[in-house]
Formats: sequence, structure tokens, C-alpha cells
Amino acid sequence: MHPDIARLARPNILALSPYSTARDDFSAGRSALIHSWLDANESPYPTGHNRYPDPHQRALKQRVAAVKGVEPDRVFCGNGSDEGVDLLYRIFCRPGADHAVAIAPSYGMYGVCAAVNDVALHEVLLGPGFSLPSRELLDTARAVDARLTLVCSPNNPTANAFPPEALLDLARRNHGLTVVDEAYIDYAPCASLAPLAGTPGLERLVVLQTLSKARGGAALRVGLAFAHPDVIGLMDAVKYPYNIPALSQQLALERLDDPAYPERLAETVAERSRLASALAALPGVLEVYPSDANFLLVRLPDPRAAYARLLEGGVVVRDRSTMPLLAGCLRITIGTPADNNRVINILSTL
Ligand SMILES: *Cc1c(COP(=O)(O)O)cnc(C)c1O
Repeated sequence: MHPDIARLARPNILALSPYSTARDDFSAGRSALIHSWLDANESPYPTGHNRYPDPHQRALKQRVAAVKGVEPDRVFCGNGSDEGVDLLYRIFCRPGADHAVAIAPSYGMYGVCAAVNDVALHEVLLGPGFSLPSRELLDTARAVDARLTLVCSPNNPTANAFPPEALLDLARRNHGLTVVDEAYIDYAPCASLAPLAGTPGLERLVVLQTLSKARGGAALRVGLAFAHPDVIGLMDAVKYPYNIPALSQQLALERLDDPAYPERLAETVAERSRLASALAALPGVLEVYPSDANFLLVRLPDPRAAYARLLEGGVVVRDRSTMPLLAGCLRITIGTPADNNRVINILSTL
């Protein structure tokens, strides 16, 4: 095991012997010779769902690896990327003892999973223009000997991506793990850091992605993590053996090869500029922040009134106005052109 990972992981997790499933010894090749599966107490009657799914998700990992340009042993598949966040806390942070660091404002699950795992989370406010507070993140992480530092890029809900070089610099200098959540990376102009996660000099970088956004598979609950094979090994050892249902594994393969993906992505990116310009021109809108994601953060004089007006018109958005730095802000997902026109029409009456 890589010494950094051995140093950071909880001793009880390093000592774990994972549950071995009945099927662990059978590769796909050997399975072809078997007539009777009498090892897992399943029903033998073919319902279409009577067999357990592949606990190692071999086919899915292979396809993810090919699509993302990484080796399959650097891929973890979880029940949503939320499972990845929770597992990282469970593997690297001793409850009631260890600390983590995250940017704020950002994705709520970092705080929820920290609280569930009894991990002290130290939030560092973004800098001017929602910039990455690199110095403060590093100083805080070192001061509390943080096991995890979580950064979301493009960030939800501020919508901006941080410069890849700044994230890599943080990951190299941070003594704990740096976790970069790339849920919205497909919509961003910069490249993913996934191919670099776990490579020499970046052994402590973990990148999270998901099929829930640009890939159109939110119902499937499939999240991805890219990391050093030793981190992936620990995540696979701690996860529930059958964490991703067979149907989800199968449909995730379809999502990864959807021929409509590029044109839908391009339409969302084009609609993002159209909606941003249209909203910025409205007298009732104070500011539309630059977006590298599939949503806009919009500042208004009276966000609650705007929220209510949108709701009356049958449009639900997210009120983010109580979050730090976000007074007056609503977060609006980019929808279809018809959805977006509805938003423009309603907000133009403010
Ligand atoms: C939507 C979102 C996710 C996706 O989570 P899943 O559990 O994979 O659906 C992850 N991170 C951020 C920041 C998000 O906004």
C-alpha cells in the first residue's frame, strides 16, 4: 500500500477483511462453463431479477475506464456520488477525532456526511469573485491535520470552475486527501482531473463524478470516484457488496454510450448563454454570475418574491439566499428551451 494512504486511513479499515461474496472466485470467462448456480441461495426461477448483480461491477468499470481514459483499477462505482463522499469520511476520518475541510458555500452533502460520521468539518469561505481560497484551505487543513479537503469544481451553487492548476497545486501540497467533486465537469470549458487522480505526485487526489447530471441518469444512482488503486481498494472493501443494482449497472452502460449526449450537452451550454444574457438584461435582476455548470446563480433584490412568482408560473428553482455570500441568490437549472423561456417571461414581470 502507498505509505500516504496507509498513514491517512483508519487502522480498523486497513485491517478489514471484506465480506466475500459467493461469486468472488468466478471471472466472467469461468462463469460461462457453469450450469447450476447453487452458491448464493437465490431463487432458481428466472424472473429477470433472480440473480445478484456483479459486486465488482466489472463491465461498468471497464466502460467507465475506457470513456474517461483511466485504468479500471482507478475507478470506483457507487450508489450515487453521495456514497463516495460518505465512504471517504468512513475510511479516512475517525469519528469524534478527525477533521475535514470544505469550501463554503458549496454542496450540502459534505456537511451532512461529516455530521453523520461525527467528523468536525471546517468551512473556508470562497475568496473574491467566488475564487478558490487556496492559502486558507491549505493553512486550515494543516492546522487541524485534516484527513479530507473537499472542493467542488464547478462549484454548486456558485457555478464557477476553479483553475485546474490551482486544484492540482492544492492536492500536491495538502498532506491529507484532496477530493475534487466534478459533478458538473461536462459543462465546463476545462478538462477533468480524473486521469491525474492517484498518479505519481497526486496519490492523495480523489476525483468524484456522477451519471446524475449531463449523462441523464439521476434515477439510476450511479456515482464514480477516480483515485489511486489503493484508495479504490479501500472503497470497494467498505461499500455494501451489492451497492449498485443490476438494472442500474446495465442502464448506466447505456447512459455512457448515449448518442444524444453530445448534442444535449451542446444545447444546454448554448441555452446557458442565452438564458444568462436574457436574465442579465432584465431590470428586476441585479446579477447573473458566470457559469461553468448547468445552472445559473442569479442575484435579485427580493429573491423570495421572485421565487414565489416563478412558483405561481409553475417553475420550481432553488432559493440559496440564506447561504454564506449568497444573499439575494436563486439557483436556476438550465432546462429545455421552453423551460428557459418560461423563466425569462416570468422574471421579466418583476
Ligand atoms: C448533483 C450533485 C452530485 C450528484 O450526486 P449523486 O449522488 O451522484 O446524484 C454530486 N455533487 C454535487 C456537487 C452535486 O451538485
